[in-house]
Amino acid sequence: MAKLSDPITVLSGIGPAKAKQFAALNIFTLEDLICHFPRAYEDRTRLIPIEKLETDCPACFKATVMNTPRTAHIRKGLDLTKVQVADHTERLNLTFFNNKYAASQLQYGKEYIFYGAVSGDFIGYSMTNPIFETPDSAPLTTRRVLPIYPLTAGLSNNAVLKAVRQALALCDPPAEILPPELRQQYGILPAERAYQAIHEPASMQEAELAKKRLIFEEFFIFSAGLALIRASRAEKRTAPYVNRDLTPFYNALPFRLTNAQQRAIDDLCGDLFRGTPMNRLVQGDVGSGKTMVAAAAAYLAVKNGHQAALMVPTEILAEQHYATLSKLLTPLGITVCLLTGSLTPKQKRQVRESIEAGQTDLVIGTHALVSEATVFFDLGLVITDEQHRFGVDQRSRLSAKGSDPHLLVMSATPIPRTLALIMYGDLEVTVLDELPPGREPVDTFLVNESYRARINAFIRRHVSEGHQCYVVCPAVEENGELDLKAAETWAETLQKTVFPDLRVALLHGQMKGADKDAVMTAFARQEADVLVATTVIEVGVDVPNATLMVIEDADRFGLSQLHQLRGRVGRGKAKSYCILTSHNKNPETLQRLKAFCKTTDGFRIAEEDLRLRGPGDFFGSRQSGLPVFRVANLNLDLQTLKTAQEASVQWIERYGTSDTPEAEALRRRIAELFRRAQGTMN
Ligand code: ADP
Ligand code: MG
Repeated sequence: MAKLSDPITVLSGIGPAKAKQFAALNIFTLEDLICHFPRAYEDRTRLIPIEKLETDCPACFKATVMNTPRTAHIRKGLDLTKVQVADHTERLNLTFFNNKYAASQLQYGKEYIFYGAVSGDFIGYSMTNPIFETPDSAPLTTRRVLPIYPLTAGLSNNAVLKAVRQALALCDPPAEILPPELRQQYGILPAERAYQAIHEPASMQEAELAKKRLIFEEFFIFSAGLALIRASRAEKRTAPYVNRDLTPFYNALPFRLTNAQQRAIDDLCGDLFRGTPMNRLVQGDVGSGKTMVAAAAAYLAVKNGHQAALMVPTEILAEQHYATLSKLLTPLGITVCLLTGSLTPKQKRQVRESIEAGQTDLVIGTHALVSEATVFFDLGLVITDEQHRFGVDQRSRLSAKGSDPHLLVMSATPIPRTLALIMYGDLEVTVLDELPPGREPVDTFLVNESYRARINAFIRRHVSEGHQCYVVCPAVEENGELDLKAAETWAETLQKTVFPDLRVALLHGQMKGADKDAVMTAFARQEADVLVATTVIEVGVDVPNATLMVIEDADRFGLSQLHQLRGRVGRGKAKSYCILTSHNKNPETLQRLKAFCKTTDGFRIAEEDLRLRGPGDFFGSRQSGLPVFRVANLNLDLQTLKTAQEASVQWIERYGTSDTPEAEALRRRIAELFRRAQGTMN
């Protein structure tokens, strides 16, 4: 017997060279191999009489070799082997190209199982390069449901197949984690059978059942993990805050808070004065005023003698929050500083020294905050903004810099409920369901190229009225293949030929942090009229004087992304507009964009986006910190996620503290899953 943790080199036929190929698939141990699940199956169980074989439909059949295979050397590098086979219904000519193996193996008068597709013409039917096995061999590629594995260069499906078969014979699959009652209740296969059957299913149905079990298992581990995290937090103790006087903060605000903002602040006060660490998500549509909720939390943390950290995904946003919050909080006696990757090493060192010495009360920054070099004097509150851009682990790495600090996460992307379970399953939620007063919905239009002159005139009109415009392009640089508007060239065209008298600025993600900041700051100060940008402006940017957004090639974006982009306008008192351009003619695409024009309800847009494009967009492009599911596909298996979540709640209630072998195994798997999630981070 071997152990799951043994390297795959214990298998025969896998030396260092083969092991390297497996490594390219992240397969190092027997467990990795057993958990390398097929991506599809081919049903080769049925044997079909030759006369019933259909052209171009690969199938299995049993036949006898009717003559000695003859190999002809056609030219350099091309050998042709021909042989005739037959069953009781029909004869069939087989041709093999450069296949010494076939030539040497197929013996006159013997029976084999073949798998291949016939091709036919008026001369007769024939088959090229079928695979074959002897009837007395263990079925490997014929007479079975064949798993099709994800592969990599140099590694054949057969090689994986053989390795997996050996591994399953040598060691027990991962231990059972689901108690029998739960398995029964949800109609789930036992672990051992599932791991066998996912690789060696007796039928397509069994493959499905195995897959169902393993998907359920992954989601179950994940949900139970989140539930345990939540439970363990609830047991933690922190000194409750005592100073609850927010009056000076309220007095310093330039506006009255909305009811929703007030409610959110009440919620978080409840958390902060309770004596266990806060774990709250504030979810509010773009422009609902989440920053001030964060500011209130930071104010309380600092006035109770602790430090607070606000982490944001981009430098632009960090800069902007720094500007807003230092203006608001410095007069209230709070020291605010900024920590981003683009500071000089010397600046970073100074900022870090002041954080470590406790001279800084509130630090705003990018993921530079989670770097090991950042040490806090007494971190009492961690806030993450635009949380969907971060992973669970980044959040917890920042939290680890304090001793059980309070946690406030904020997200503007409305997340469909099912996905919220994955991303925020360990949090309590407050929804900001109200926009500050005086906001008019942004009018949105979809147009094609024939409107170009009118779009330009519209931009000009907004600028002449003292407002500013965004023009968003899907790409940074010109790309020969795709006819997309590229920010760089489009900015140049607008400046040189369309608006020579206006100030056109350019912003994209490939620019240096400092350059981006300079452009953004200038735009906020109204030193530019038109900002041509990529989606870097999607997140959080706040310039209330901008009243028009043109989104070029809008069909290239997801609906939620469009919604985020559109949220950059309509932030001030003036009426705002969003114009989508597209030369896409696909009716479904146009339908989708038209639907977007008609609604400003972020949650509805999010649900629609999930339906159309799957959950990828919600996690951002980096997907960092997202658990790596091996079988589960978030696009397809959301219903199972829900069921597994329910089951995990039951499990926690019944077995949360028990030490059955299943519970032990589950705890181990939870730890592994969350470790793997961390592995995906840079
Ligand atoms: P979010 O982060 O939720 O998208 P912000 O916090 O950036 O929104 O706020 C959007 C804009 O609304 C900012 O310009 C902010 O100053 C303003 N704002 C926030 N709260 C209020 C309020 N209660 N009344 C008026 N304006 C507000
Ligand atoms: Mg914001």
